[in-house]
Amino acid sequence: MRNPDPRGEALAPGKIWFVGAGPGDPDLITVKGRDLLARSGAILYAGSLVDRTATRYAPPDCDIRDSKDMTLEEMVDWLCEMAGRHAIVVRLQTGDPALYGALIEMTRPLSDAGIDWAVVPGVSSAMASMAAARETMTLPEVTQTVILTRTAGRTPMPEGEDLEALAAHHCTLCVYLSATLIGKVQRALRAAGWREDAPILVVQKASWPGEEKIVRGSLADIAQKCREGGIGRQAMIIASPTLGSAGWETLLRSKLYDPAFSHRYRRASEAA
Ligand code: SAH
Repeated sequence: MRNPDPRGEALAPGKIWFVGAGPGDPDLITVKGRDLLARSGAILYAGSLVDRTATRYAPPDCDIRDSKDMTLEEMVDWLCEMAGRHAIVVRLQTGDPALYGALIEMTRPLSDAGIDWAVVPGVSSAMASMAAARETMTLPEVTQTVILTRTAGRTPMPEGEDLEALAAHHCTLCVYLSATLIGKVQRALRAAGWREDAPILVVQKASWPGEEKIVRGSLADIAQKCREGGIGRQAMIIASPTLGSAGWETLLRSKLYDPAFSHRYRRASEAA
């Protein structure tokens, strides 16, 4: 499997980099991720969620493969084989690799095989969705907490993590992998006491050039608005008491920029 070097010794295998491709826009990859792609000998990209244009930074002779139709075992085998041939091998994943990305399932067999690996974080779709809608996840004295979660689909939720329990915090909830289960999300929020007029945001294909769709609604009508807007897969549901705050009449100031508030980098002004 390993390439013999010209002196007849086995070369140490290459390193496998799990790189976050970002949410869709190929410009939203990190500089580090882009540089690794440009130096890579092989790329395995998650074609169901990552557009092939994300591999446009790869060198011309790079071995590029879509993992859409592969099993986990096939992916691991391919990565191991490529690590025997190239110093830099990239596994390109949507958003951030640490979120719903089967990272540990893939890296454990690599570690067992003695292959080194590392992670380059990416812009997650929750962040891209808020950016697209020009919204904030946190707001002083409204909420200072963000929960990244999902509803149970084929993967069950561990005890204590059902959406109703999480929604009881009334903080910002970013619900992944659940666009087709929006009715379930509505029921959980209602059971947790969210009002019918609570604002809900759904963003499909956030940051994808020309394909992004933003749907705004309330707890009462969001499912219907999603149906009307043709929202299917690859959408993020965000429920937050901060939504729409750009238009609020009164807003508490963030202490960080308050003239009366001193901190490490700035002294409060006398007049304030
Ligand atoms: N690791 C990814 C999440 C993968 S799970 C990340 O950090 O974003 C796939 C889910 O992510 C989808 O079901 C959808 O909820 C969300 N998602 C991925 N890309 C998206 C995008 N461009 N816009 C909105 N939601 C997206």
